[in-house]
Amino acid sequence: MPAPFRRAIFMLFDGARWDVFQQLLDAGELPRIRQHLAPDGRVHRAVACFPTVSGPAHLPFMTGCYPGTLGAPGIYWFDRRIQAATGSVFQSVRSYLTLAKVRNFNRDLAPGTPNLAAAWPDVRYVFGWYTRGSPHGALMTRVTKITSFVRGFLTKDWLRCDDDAEAVQNRAIDLGGSFVFSVFPSPDELGHRFGPTTDETRAAYLKMDGIIGRLFDRLARRGEADSTLVVLSSDHGQSPTHTHFPLDRTVEAQFGKTLAYKRWPTPTRGFEAVVLPNGNGMANVYFRGDGWDQGRPDAARFSGFAQGLLANEALDHVAWRGSDGWLVVAGHGGIARMREVAGGLEYVVDGHDPFDYGPLPATMDPETALRLTADTPYPDAPWGLLTWARSPRAGDLLVTSKVGFDLRDWFEYQEPHGTHGGLHAEHSRVPVLCNAPLADGPMRTVDVYPTMVALTGRPLPPGVEGVSRVP
Ligand SMILES: [Zn+2]
Repeated sequence: MPAPFRRAIFMLFDGARWDVFQQLLDAGELPRIRQHLAPDGRVHRAVACFPTVSGPAHLPFMTGCYPGTLGAPGIYWFDRRIQAATGSVFQSVRSYLTLAKVRNFNRDLAPGTPNLAAAWPDVRYVFGWYTRGSPHGALMTRVTKITSFVRGFLTKDWLRCDDDAEAVQNRAIDLGGSFVFSVFPSPDELGHRFGPTTDETRAAYLKMDGIIGRLFDRLARRGEADSTLVVLSSDHGQSPTHTHFPLDRTVEAQFGKTLAYKRWPTPTRGFEAVVLPNGNGMANVYFRGDGWDQGRPDAARFSGFAQGLLANEALDHVAWRGSDGWLVVAGHGGIARMREVAGGLEYVVDGHDPFDYGPLPATMDPETALRLTADTPYPDAPWGLLTWARSPRAGDLLVTSKVGFDLRDWFEYQEPHGTHGGLHAEHSRVPVLCNAPLADGPMRTVDVYPTMVALTGRPLPPGVEGVSRVP
């Protein structure tokens, strides 16, 4: 194995799609990315961990763990235990889309969760969401992120946020140090605003080519181009949206008063259900049942309703916990049951496979499950769902929308033309571009952390769930 890299720079190009990268690369429009990160002209493919929304889907890169393992089953979640204890939705409903997101992630994640500082103690962050283990000053955008995002919010000129990220990343590089973690937010924001495959959003990819070129020029001037690992990846993809489906109103019509986050007004007391769309393509749904202090209600009380939802063309899959540790997933074609067992998962189809998979072994280790499903329209969906379901904060019911649809029909600050959060490849297939060779074959975003650990010759912190993809 060659000498380990002295430092690493990880760039999270938020919401970037694998296929857009590959198409632009094939068309010769990303010459600097090709030169430095894809010399064979191939964009390595990874499956984003579920749920495919910013925040939770950032965590695999920063911890080497699945969002569900860490207790972050959504960018919005509801915790019935906190509701029972406090009676306050201001405490039981979490949104990570606030200025307190870093503080909340640092607090919410399970104790003992790995972090970047565990492998690279002098890590610096540019727009990072989780900084546990690092001093305050390590987040170099603590002050500027507010102006940067408010400006993006008001002007919709998200490309300038990437300019800001590049400028701060340059400062971090000049400070030395063994790791820089940067978020470049524009594909996600532009995709929601204009659609993920439009010229407006492609402009972000073309701009990234210049950023990569200038980065390697800078490293070369510093004599560090060969000793610096550079990895660019994404937390999720995005699909174009043409129709909105009012999931919260549909739940309310059946179960009564329903709290829906981001809808205004929404009840904050006496509600029977909670509907939290994430990326708007998946929703965590919770039911009061006999009381928030009574644990999850029996799925028999809502599974019929859930299957009835599938009569609507907007919906793709619904999932809930059955008995004996099974997670039940229903799609238009049929139903599958899956559960974690020692060393992997069991997967049983009743009738037609809801993901249209061909025949799968009844028991698989996670690697086999990934390999057999990576090239389908629902890459790694069984393992993704099972890791999501580990969290007590995950919805009693999971709902995903079909490509083209989302799960909210009320006003948002920008009319969404892009959707993510679900299990479909348009949401979960992401690029991994790297100036070191990676093993052939599929990988998950949770594998990037241990891969970077291996390539920089660091000891692997305890608790990491991903596996190194160094060949
Ligand atoms: Zn994102």
